[in-house]
Amino acid sequence: MLDDRYMPKYRFRSVCDITADFLKQKGIKGLLLDIDNTLIYDETLTPLPGVKEWVQRMQSEDIPLVIVSNAIAPRVYITAKRLGIKEYIYSAKKPKSDGLLRAAEKLGLPIDSLAMVGDQLKTDMLAANTAGATAIFTDRARDEKIFKFYFKKARDGEKELLEEFERRKNGV
Ligand SMILES: [Mg+2]
Repeated sequence: MLDDRYMPKYRFRSVCDITADFLKQKGIKGLLLDIDNTLIYDETLTPLPGVKEWVQRMQSEDIPLVIVSNAIAPRVYITAKRLGIKEYIYSAKKPKSDGLLRAAEKLGLPIDSLAMVGDQLKTDMLAANTAGATAIFTDRARDEKIFKFYFKKARDGEKELLEEFERRKNGV
């Protein structure tokens, strides 16, 4: 059974494809960012190609960024520092919406003017939809074959949901 709560509003191949122009067009004033497989490779502290420059571009366009991650403090702190992102929430417990709401409070912006960007439907997108933020899905950065087992549970049914998303987008 497909559940609309998991559905993204928009989908990008990579976070680096999100532009300030796009956000302004959609009335999105700031971004809440997942880290693993969105900004850095899972199980590493290595930024995905182009992410550092993308962060700088967003900042120069006055798009505020807050990391909202389920990871523990050191991992989130190191990532934020390396990428030059000042605001972050760790142990966010997505799909709960609390972390996203706290991030909105930090920015002093209403949650419905923000988008949550992440690579997991059942955590990031569900959290976005529950909190009232725009849900932006980015395709995960890892080769799925390697991480098949690791991802299996969290990603159950994800393929079907994304197919449904593409059908709706194309008006089928
Ligand atoms: Mg992730």
